Amino acid sequence: MEQPDEVMPAAGASSRLYWGYAASYLLIGIAHLIALTRQSDAGNVASDVIVGVAQWLTLAALIWRWRRSSFPDTFRWGATIAALAFINLANDNDLVIHVGGNYPHAPGASIFCDAIYVALVLLSCSTTFRGRTMRATNLVDAAMVVALTGFFFVRTFSLVSISGPDDANNVLFIIRMFNILGIFLTLCAAVRLLGAERTRQRHFFFVLTAYLLTSTAFAAVRNPLTIKPNGMEFDFLLLPQFIVLGLLCLRGSPRWLESYQPRSSLVDAAESLSPLFLGLGLLGVSLSIFSSHPVLGVVGASIAVIGYGIRNVITQSEQMATERSLMLLQGELQTLAVTDPLTGITNRRGFDASLGRMWKRVETSDMHLSVLIIDIDHFKLFNDSYGHDLGDLCLIAVANCLRDILTPLGCSVARNGGEEFAALLPAATFQQAMEIGETIRQSISEVRVSHGNEPLLITVSIGVANSAQSQASSAKALLLIADKALYDAKSAGRNRVVYRDSIDAS
Ligand code: GH3
Ligand code: MG
Ligand code: MG
Repeated sequence: MEQPDEVMPAAGASSRLYWGYAASYLLIGIAHLIALTRQSDAGNVASDVIVGVAQWLTLAALIWRWRRSSFPDTFRWGATIAALAFINLANDNDLVIHVGGNYPHAPGASIFCDAIYVALVLLSCSTTFRGRTMRATNLVDAAMVVALTGFFFVRTFSLVSISGPDDANNVLFIIRMFNILGIFLTLCAAVRLLGAERTRQRHFFFVLTAYLLTSTAFAAVRNPLTIKPNGMEFDFLLLPQFIVLGLLCLRGSPRWLESYQPRSSLVDAAESLSPLFLGLGLLGVSLSIFSSHPVLGVVGASIAVIGYGIRNVITQSEQMATERSLMLLQGELQTLAVTDPLTGITNRRGFDASLGRMWKRVETSDMHLSVLIIDIDHFKLFNDSYGHDLGDLCLIAVANCLRDILTPLGCSVARNGGEEFAALLPAATFQQAMEIGETIRQSISEVRVSHGNEPLLITVSIGVANSAQSQASSAKALLLIADKALYDAKSAGRNRVVYRDSIDAS
């Protein structure tokens, strides 16, 4: 049986496959160095072919990992595969043009593939897969990816096509642009790595961060050197990023990565920050084309801001809906927490809270408060004679009767536990409380619980206490006096209402 994804680490490939890959990369590396040392046109073509082989081999390793992943990581690995496929195509296109000997002024197809690569890598760092609005946010992300591809293409193509790839200033600008872009992509992936809460998600962002870090670092060293004569020699720096990517995605998650568990605040921060990545990327590219294409720059920046805004509106409205349903749930839970499940009236917890609130009013005003404790007589005998189920029906009948009498009077009733009930009579004087108690006693004695054809009689004893009439100095003391009064009623023969004004016998 498959373990749940949250706890299932990303397993590695068999050692045969892994070491097979490692050996292949070693051979490719050696062949690459030999080709580069030739310093001939044929050597250069061979070098490009070798790098291409390494790239496609790495793509196969990514496909291996993708086939073993589950949603949403499948999407991320898939986007990375597509991204890599596009730079592979770009390089292959360059190679074919190179071999044909007619290198164009601006290799549009290759630049377009590079633009798709950047947008897809950013997409895999940006997209989140949470909540009911996932489809809508993913749609906005997709639109941003299309826009980013277009604007990035315009940016690079216009630079290269206007004055040609040989213009030293342009080349330096492009190198700087790719360096900044590399750092930006690496940071985006690193943020997601730090805030990845599932092990497989962490594995993906670990591999991606390592790949982007290697490619950015090596490109930063290699690209300025390629402008110089004999710059091709430094093409050996092209391979490490693909070796890192291929080998890391064939390996399982390292131990330290599995045991790393980000704090929930970090997870939330990374998730909330990630939708910004696409917007920032698009904004950066749009601003950089502003000087050469002002209209396009404004359009791009607007798409970035509007896209990010729409995404925020979608997630915020979902959060508000979630908040509303949570509040409803909280209300239901609060009601449940103070409701007696058998009779549906307030339970002891609810009674205590109401008594506390009322006592405050008693202390701060001259309001009277009467408490009645109502206990069914000989209920154990009732249960023993007629069974627990009929006992339950009896409790429900008593609760309904109490509610029918007390609620219209603005009084509340609770089941204190077992066969004991308590009533709070705010503003009721001692005489009124005694009268209500008597009404209750009388009404309960008229309640009939049927046992077959035999109507069963129930009686209750009631203890009464009143805040103004008693010496109670606290809510608890008032309750205790009512309890003592109930005890008196039981001792005096039950089925009666008894009043007390203090705990001590009067
Ligand atoms: P007294 O007149 O002195 O109050 O006697 P009593 O038998 O009513 O009091 P006692 O405390 O001896 O017994 C209470 C009985 O209430 C015992 C228990 O079986 C019954 N009881 C408590 N809770 C429930 C309940 O939820 N359902 C039913 N059916 N019976 C309950
Ligand atoms: Mg009883
Ligand atoms: Mg009792």
